[in-house]
Amino acid sequence: MKIESYDALKHSKYRLSLMLLLFLNVAASLFCLVPMSGEAENEITLPALFVAFFSAISLTSCLIKTKLKLPLLNPVALILGLLWAWHINYRYHAVIYFDGSFLIISLLSIFFISAIALSDYLVAFCLHIAPPVLTVLWLDDGEHFVMILLTIALPLIGFSLQHLMRRRADRFTLRLMYQLYEEKETFSDLSMLDPLTGLYNRRGLKNRLDNILNNHTGSHYVLLLDIDHFKAYNDNYGHAMGDQALARVSVAIRDAVRSRDVVTRYGGEEFLVLMTNVNASIAMKLAERIRKYVVDLEIPHRFNERVSTHVTISAGIAPIYDNEFEQAVANADRALYVAKSQGRNTILAWEDLPKANVISSSEAH
Ligand code: GH3
Ligand code: MG
Ligand code: MG
Repeated sequence: MKIESYDALKHSKYRLSLMLLLFLNVAASLFCLVPMSGEAENEITLPALFVAFFSAISLTSCLIKTKLKLPLLNPVALILGLLWAWHINYRYHAVIYFDGSFLIISLLSIFFISAIALSDYLVAFCLHIAPPVLTVLWLDDGEHFVMILLTIALPLIGFSLQHLMRRRADRFTLRLMYQLYEEKETFSDLSMLDPLTGLYNRRGLKNRLDNILNNHTGSHYVLLLDIDHFKAYNDNYGHAMGDQALARVSVAIRDAVRSRDVVTRYGGEEFLVLMTNVNASIAMKLAERIRKYVVDLEIPHRFNERVSTHVTISAGIAPIYDNEFEQAVANADRALYVAKSQGRNTILAWEDLPKANVISSSEAH
């Protein structure tokens, strides 16, 4: 899950709350406008008409525009609260024989709408109920003070507690989401590394390669390295010692090149070094340095009673033309093959191969 999708979720919840508030206000105002029994007190009031129009138009524009850019909930809640306050005041004065229960019922209706639509938005909730509450307190003139106070206080306390709990839950969810996100990044990094050597694996190389080829315009070289006679090494010393030797050779390769060069475990005992922004002679020098660092490790390699030497590597080197990485690898592989046939512990550049072994650069791409 991404942070953006969590934000999108919050945004859509906000929009839905606004639409629900508008819808409930349309319904409540229509209820006030439709004459119930033809009695005088059911006469149409101007503020209720305003609520109906304002809510219906706003609701329609919300439905048309799926992306809500402005934070409209608070101002809309305040406008509707003011209109309802006006409505209550108007009705109270228009019909003489209303008693205090009219005020309490009106107040409960507004609370009902706010509690359903604005339970997640404390400020909007307060803005929606504040004007009617103040109007009712003023109109009642202290006659039903306790009852009105209870009508206000109970839902308000309940609502505030619920709001606090929800905010805690939201914070917890967000923390959890960030944690998951970080862990996902870590796993993604780990999936690009070879566990034995700590070098990039092919997936890591691909990741770096896309970046390098798209952003660096200089000339790049591919160096393909292979440990010499490694099967014999395993046969003599065992697989565990073979693993150790592999790890040591990996460190030597990493130490020999520059930090910007991408060192990859390309296969079992094969490595690929992607050298960025180098010319042929520097690339060759770096390759030669790797060969020497590996020899200097002096890892004993005894073939039989008579032949005993150290672990060495052979390598082929080739430039990347026109971002054709695969072709460069194939050329480096060809040079490596020739290096092996020339006795191993050797570096060969694809460009220096005898003519018969070389595909010209124009053929190469
Ligand atoms: P060459 O000089 O021609 O490259 O000979 P080689 O013996 O190195 O080449 P070959 O392809 O015949 O053998 C490669 C060996 O590398 C065989 C395999 O057991 C060993 N190898 C590959 N991956 C690992 C590994 O992760 N650990 C160990 N210990 N050995 C490995
Ligand atoms: Mg090999
Ligand atoms: Mg080998």
